Amino acid sequence: MRDWVTFPDGNRGRRSWDSDPQKARAWQHRLAQAWGGDERPVCDCRHQGQPMGLSVHRCLRQRDGRQVEVYHLARLRHQGALHHVACSFHEADPRRDGRSGYVEGVVRERDDGRIGIALRRGLRCLDVAAAPADPAQAARQGGGQGAVRQARMTELGLLHLLWEEAGLNRWTPRLGRARRRWPFVREALDRAALRIVPGRNQSLSDRLAMIGYADEDGPALLRETARNCGETWRILLLGIVDDIALVNWQEGQQFCALRFDGASAYNLRVSAASVWHERVARRYPMAMAALALPRAERAIRVMGLVTATVRVGVTQGLSLVRCRADDIALMEVEPDTLTPVSSGHELAIARALVEQRRSFVRPLRFDAGRDAVLPDFVLTDTGDPRGTPMEVFGRADEAYAARRSEKARYYDEVYGQAHWWHWDAVASPGRWPAFPPASPQRGGDDDA
Ligand SMILES: [Zn+2]
Repeated sequence: MRDWVTFPDGNRGRRSWDSDPQKARAWQHRLAQAWGGDERPVCDCRHQGQPMGLSVHRCLRQRDGRQVEVYHLARLRHQGALHHVACSFHEADPRRDGRSGYVEGVVRERDDGRIGIALRRGLRCLDVAAAPADPAQAARQGGGQGAVRQARMTELGLLHLLWEEAGLNRWTPRLGRARRRWPFVREALDRAALRIVPGRNQSLSDRLAMIGYADEDGPALLRETARNCGETWRILLLGIVDDIALVNWQEGQQFCALRFDGASAYNLRVSAASVWHERVARRYPMAMAALALPRAERAIRVMGLVTATVRVGVTQGLSLVRCRADDIALMEVEPDTLTPVSSGHELAIARALVEQRRSFVRPLRFDAGRDAVLPDFVLTDTGDPRGTPMEVFGRADEAYAARRSEKARYYDEVYGQAHWWHWDAVASPGRWPAFPPASPQRGGDDDA
């Protein structure tokens, strides 16, 4: 990922220093100095010969009962697609991204550099879920090509937004083993949550708690978030899911219990109505098949975002956080990079890309229907400023064939025949064509 920033005084720094424990303090100090200045910091991209300006924003957050200032950098509004595909400020053209599956205003860039969203169900405990878009009505409103555009974001859409804003759907070899360390991932997600505004005067980070292994600060942050939510707000729990099981309760009654990786250090219990077990099994078969295996045999990890009401109690001197889930969204990821994948074929390609030290982005679907043309991966190191799309064709039936030729036509037209890659996983299982070569400059990915 290309993330160097040049300040008006000529000093340079990297956006990713924000999640580097050794550099974060100095980096925050640097941003604080730049905040409110007359001249803008710039990234290394150019548009019509000019450097692309960035803005510095300040957020306030509660920590240990105190207000803490947090600074962050943002691209200017509506400029996401003008940044180079390898730049950390790049955003895919919304027409070629799962965000296109929403009606206007569901995800919007605000003047203060943050992102406003309209959730299907607000975060107040009293809020109820809005009904999903009715296909017939959406078609009457001119959704275009029969596509149903959602007027609200679901939990899965929110999980995708968090992933994208935290940069976790982008991979570059420079990251090495960083994403195996949960505190690093938590920090990146927390910064993203700070920039997401789910309702007036709200920040998603006030409601989001993250659960993971070997995170010294995690349990205290969970308790603080749970207390702040109280009886008024729902809490959002995010972590790697270890188990989702039906548990027998008294007199033949059952409930669904969800356990996050590392949860024992948190004194956390998450339950849901028993119907959720069948619901997630139907909706996320790949995730549930992985969870049915012993941990060491799982080829993927399962990320979970749970919306719940929360109660903090004290049992035998320990504070216990009990959550009752209203919704569960899951996402299958490759374990080393946390790149979302939706099939074994995609997993094989993600692994091969990592082995060959390639840089890539995984476009996310949000709540868009199957008809949105979304590549499985986009190589960001080929020198093409838009990146090089990659498609894995994993089925051979007739309905899929039509869809496949439609996709091929689209890529041929938009990128040109030689400028996208595909693999027919049915015709040649286990053997895919060579990847398009990386450009000698590695798409500006180097540390230079
Ligand atoms: Zn840029």
